[in-house]
Amino acid sequence: MLIDFHTHTTASDGALSPADLVQRALARGVSQLAITDHDTVAGYRAAVASRALASGELHLVPGVELSCQWSGVNVHVVGLNLDVDHPVLAAGLSRQAEARQERAAVIARRLEKLGLSGALEGARAAAGDSQIGRPHFAAWMVAQGHVAEPSVAFDRYLGRGKPGDVKAFWPVLEEVVGWIVAAGGVAVLAHPLKYRLTRTRLERLTADFRAAGGAAVEVLSGRQLPNEGRELRELARRQQLAVSLGSDFHQEQSWAADLGVEPRHLEGLWGVWERWQAPEQESCT
Ligand code: AMP
Ligand code: MN
Ligand code: MN
Ligand code: MN
Repeated sequence: MLIDFHTHTTASDGALSPADLVQRALARGVSQLAITDHDTVAGYRAAVASRALASGELHLVPGVELSCQWSGVNVHVVGLNLDVDHPVLAAGLSRQAEARQERAAVIARRLEKLGLSGALEGARAAAGDSQIGRPHFAAWMVAQGHVAEPSVAFDRYLGRGKPGDVKAFWPVLEEVVGWIVAAGGVAVLAHPLKYRLTRTRLERLTADFRAAGGAAVEVLSGRQLPNEGRELRELARRQQLAVSLGSDFHQEQSWAADLGVEPRHLEGLWGVWERWQAPEQESCT
């Protein structure tokens, strides 16, 4: 069984349209998929409206990846199986969209001071109808010849601690978890090792997340080392949280994970998907 509860489309910073992402998941034999674009459910909605799901071979789980801050760190919370029309979530998402626009203007102003002019127009053009983010600034920098590739744009201008790393606009962790819970969803602490916290701080983040109503830890995210998976499963066990799995797929890349992960090594842990798995699916496995 291949599943994937963390993926991106052109609605945020992914390369594939929602319908193409579903097609790719089907071609790879994924049976359950969540589209979790940054701060928008537009990709999920478009996939539902497309004919890509017509075969019925793939169960699409409503999802989103929300940006927030915790103790000065930019943290991501994935929301799964939520009511995408819930008014609390809708209000939260429109606030996030506003925050992204305001943040983009601040990022552009900072880049301007470093001699990179026209960044706001450039990033907006790169984003088009997508939820604007740092990857669109990176794409513009590549197109302008300022950097050779997006990763260099992050290393020099946009990554952690660089001028384009603007966190001030994000709501706090407790708030975004609250939106997910209000919308009947499951809140998942995304890629916990990406925040580069000390063990003590990671434990505190996870405990705060749980206290806020968080339900699960992403114990597999993209390509990760076996010992990282082990560490995250131990974290979930200690904090008595369920687990989720995802590729964090953005586009086909030799160094990144493709769609679909096999749920493995989860003895004694509770997969979030067990909450919504249809009884008939369970009986035929
Ligand atoms: P934002 O949502 O605007 O905060 O941008 C964060 C996104 O930028 C992440 O979800 C990644 O897709 C992308 N990203 C973060 N770090 C890097 C990096 N070093 N190289 C390329 N893309 C990155
Ligand atoms: Mn991204
Ligand atoms: Mn993320
Ligand atoms: Mn992601």
